[in-house]
Amino acid sequence: MRIKVDRDKCEGHSRCYSLAPDLVDVDDLGNAFELNGGEVPAGLNDRAQLIIDNCPEFAIEIVED
Ligand code: SF4
Repeated sequence: MRIKVDRDKCEGHSRCYSLAPDLVDVDDLGNAFELNGGEVPAGLNDRAQLIIDNCPEFAIEIVED
């Protein structure tokens, strides 16, 4: 599973970072970006889905390979 943050949609609430700091980080402006090239480590798919569902801007997407 791979995720991507759409930087145009992200408004920098950092909600995703507080829920899953092992999947995303935030820059100096608070805008999120995916870690590990977006690759979700084994066992963290539920956590990835959690931040997808909790992003108020619908900015986190699953990348289809
Ligand atoms: S929760 Fe959504 S809008 Fe907020 S920082 Fe994360 S990606 Fe951006």
